[in-house]
Amino acid sequence: MSPKRLKGLGASPGIAIGEPVVQETRPIAVLRITLPDSRIDQEIERFDSAVETTAANILKNRDRAASQMGEEYAAIFEAHHLMVKDPSLSKPVREIIREERVNAEWALDQVVGKLVERFESLPDDYLAERKLDVLDIATQILRSLHGTDITHLEDLDRKVVLVADDLPPSVVVKLPLDKILGFVLETGGPTSHTTIIARSLGIPAIVGISGACESGLRSRRVIVDAFEGKILFDPDPADVEEYRSRQNEYLEQQAHLQRVRALPTITRDGHRVELLANIDLLAEVDAAVSWNVQGIGLYRSEFLYMERSPLLPDEEDHVGVYRNLLNAMGDAPVTIRTFDLGGKKLAREVMGSEEANPVLGLRGIRLCFSKPGFFQTQLRALLRVAGEFPLGQLRIMFPLIACLEEFRVARFLVNRLTEDLRSEGYPIHESVPLGAMVEVPSAAVMVRELAKEADFLSIGTNDLIQYSLAVDRANELVAHLYRPTSPAVLRLISQIIKAGNEFGTDVGMCGEMASDPLMVPLLVGLGLRRFSMNPQSLPLVRNLVRQLSAREASAMARQAIRMSTAREIEEYLLERLAITLAKIKVRV
Ligand code: PEP
Ligand code: MG
Repeated sequence: MSPKRLKGLGASPGIAIGEPVVQETRPIAVLRITLPDSRIDQEIERFDSAVETTAANILKNRDRAASQMGEEYAAIFEAHHLMVKDPSLSKPVREIIREERVNAEWALDQVVGKLVERFESLPDDYLAERKLDVLDIATQILRSLHGTDITHLEDLDRKVVLVADDLPPSVVVKLPLDKILGFVLETGGPTSHTTIIARSLGIPAIVGISGACESGLRSRRVIVDAFEGKILFDPDPADVEEYRSRQNEYLEQQAHLQRVRALPTITRDGHRVELLANIDLLAEVDAAVSWNVQGIGLYRSEFLYMERSPLLPDEEDHVGVYRNLLNAMGDAPVTIRTFDLGGKKLAREVMGSEEANPVLGLRGIRLCFSKPGFFQTQLRALLRVAGEFPLGQLRIMFPLIACLEEFRVARFLVNRLTEDLRSEGYPIHESVPLGAMVEVPSAAVMVRELAKEADFLSIGTNDLIQYSLAVDRANELVAHLYRPTSPAVLRLISQIIKAGNEFGTDVGMCGEMASDPLMVPLLVGLGLRRFSMNPQSLPLVRNLVRQLSAREASAMARQAIRMSTAREIEEYLLERLAITLAKIKVRV
């Protein structure tokens, strides 16, 4: 029996109630099961139907690829369609099922094993590589047998709760997100990118919940309580009723918060705080506009690559997207981060190979430098669009800067491209603002030097915490060690804000910490005045800032930063937050 409840980590708040659909990306363990004679025909039918489903999915993908990317991409799917329908694959599988009286998965595995061996023995490298196509098709048939193939998700006609072992952002961007009521993931951490997308779209999500796929496969309905990080499988009617009323309460609260939409973000003692939006998917721009933000503090341009993969955007694609983004935001400034690919974010199409340790590998600005063609294409587009708008409206930011030299090289490239574009006749600004993400501890330590040369800095706490504490932000096994209240991290942040003030360099924060209600008072107290976050968090943070006194927050920050452990700081902040909320009425 599956357990009726499982517990993980609530990663995006909210409650979802609905039908679970399971998506597994990990390899499926194939077991040999001997079947009674009476089951053989049925098993062959099960296999045939999985082959048919796979063939139909491949054709759907073929049509989609042809219409979105051009006929040359459709060819890959046509070859796969031929292979899946090829009797030399299905005939021996049927024979093994019948002769050995075994399950379809086992029979398929035997046949594919032999085919792969045959391909591997071919002298021609190109042909030998075709074994990957065979393995790909076999996996699709296997997933279809198992009921966990993702292809059908792209055409979902109803709303579901998606339960998965792992869901990299490159898969998420292709999902029909308006059909997803909630995410339940066996892996992941509080700031993994899939979590960030869920939060941005206001989709409840739980991560690090082991065994969810297995239980999900056996359930018809689930309740996702992402406040508590709980999932209930096949809940009782009484549970459903209770959670429906909690869900309504939450939605009412959210609607109430909207009342602060048009109010200025100003502390009780008159300090203005700028609120900006982080954008991953272009679909989020409308939400940002509707929340009355003062600009985009972070556009994660790598999502553009993921949304278009396997094709890479060309200069005109970039220009079109950036121009639309700036037009949508009116006069408000837009900070576009150059592509931060690598790690789990679509490295393969750009890099061609996988790394053993991608988070410490060719990621962010390092990848930009190692692929000068891609980088220049993007920079040219950024400079061209910047030139179409008043100076300062488009700002360029570089990810994962670890040392001053990297920032200097990036500036040098921008200067060179500025000259090239001018000689080609484009109207280009002399000096588009260039900023650095401070998200690697070495950059935080050297921040005074960086602050002297960069036009602006943005603190990326998601990575700064990961790298300072040596805790993988996407690994559920160490999620409990990922502590935003770590004194080491807070001292680095304080140092970055101070350096910005000393050199008059604008400092913002665009990591998830900027929208954490526990951390916002502390950050205001440390002197931070520019917060960029997922659009869904804007009303809560606006409300909170309006209830703070910057003077009191600063006294609190001085106290907190002297403490020695994350736990001490966390308890202190919780206590202070409770006092703040109890003392002051909502100022609307
Ligand atoms: C960060 O690291 O805090 C950040 C904003 O960048 P990303 O989450 O895209 O790595
Ligand atoms: Mg980062």
